[in-house]
Amino acid sequence: MSWIGETRMADCIFCRILDGSVPAERVYETPGAVAFLDGFPTARGHTLVIPRLHAPTILDLPDDAVADLFRAVREVTRKVSDALHPVAFNIGWNHGRGAGQAVLHLHVHILPRYTAGGRGVQSLGSGGDRSQLAETAAALRRG
Ligand code: AMP
Ligand code: ZN
Repeated sequence: MSWIGETRMADCIFCRILDGSVPAERVYETPGAVAFLDGFPTARGHTLVIPRLHAPTILDLPDDAVADLFRAVREVTRKVSDALHPVAFNIGWNHGRGAGQAVLHLHVHILPRYTAGGRGVQSLGSGGDRSQLAETAAALRRG
């Protein structure tokens, strides 16, 4: 099934939030993006920011939509910070099923942290090797 050129997918829960057929606690909207509270929050103010365009991952999203999405992420982060005063945030997304992406409509988690000293996203890694840095960088520059 192709999604290119479409803005809604009937079987996508987040597209249904966008068209209003599934309720959500919306907190911010722009022509390109919508933010709503995660329905199963892992912290107070846990918010999701999504593009209005249905795209499974950031690799599928056009440049303008990427810009719109990240402007909205910045504004929502500011709003959560001002309203709830967390000490920090983890902000990011799960890219692909293997990384825990359950909903295949790109969404950025804005996860406020209320206690200091928490672990960051690096804690999700499976282990790396510093001796491979130059080789890895060369591969990425080639790619
Ligand atoms: P991910 O694992 O990155 O795909 O995250 C999907 C997120 O969407 C989870 O944190 C869910 O709690 C959240 N979620 C799923 N369905 C809904 C919904 N109908 N309204 C609000 N949040 C939802
Ligand atoms: Zn969708």
